[in-house]
Amino acid sequence: MLVLLDNGHGGLINGNPQTGSRRSHKLPNGARLYEGEFNRAIVNGIIQELTFLNIPYVNITPEMRDVTRTTRIRRANAYKRVRNVFLISVHCNAGGGKGFEVFTSRGRTKSDLIANTFAQEFTKVFTDRRLRTDLSDGLLGKEANFDILKKTAMPAILTENFFFDNREEVENILMTREGRQNIVDFHVNAIVKVKEEIFMEAPVLLN
Ligand SMILES: [Zn+2]
Repeated sequence: MLVLLDNGHGGLINGNPQTGSRRSHKLPNGARLYEGEFNRAIVNGIIQELTFLNIPYVNITPEMRDVTRTTRIRRANAYKRVRNVFLISVHCNAGGGKGFEVFTSRGRTKSDLIANTFAQEFTKVFTDRRLRTDLSDGLLGKEANFDILKKTAMPAILTENFFFDNREEVENILMTREGRQNIVDFHVNAIVKVKEEIFMEAPVLLN
């Protein structure tokens, strides 16, 4: 199995946010959350754990600048002939809500099973936090017409990890070490489950 990782938007270059509009309120210490920084922190945390687990991955957007969606899709599709490949695009939500949601493209695909696994693993780590679902197909993921999900040639999901315009979530989860680690952990737990239960690959014995 190969995991393609995508961190949404641009990060910070020389202290300048590349997608400055996607930011939180000012915290008491003057810091802000920038979505592009957060997405990269989560992807880097996942990368560290996948390294320890000996699970192959490719970060398709290692740059700090905001890579266009067309380029992200082209980079992902370079791996379309790889067996058991799937893509995770990591984001943080806005719009005044709270909780976690995971998206797939429309229609019934393997992505729905992968998204369902991510949602289940979210609820195991964040037992008292809201999972935003759309149970129309009996699975826990939601559907959306996002290019990165629709135009990629392999199963693809997009995780929206809490809301950067929700003060409580920013201060208690998104801008805390424990909160970010928990987000990394449920992504990694889900990747391992996808490998064993959806792609049905036996675990590699590490010694
Ligand atoms: Zn985003």
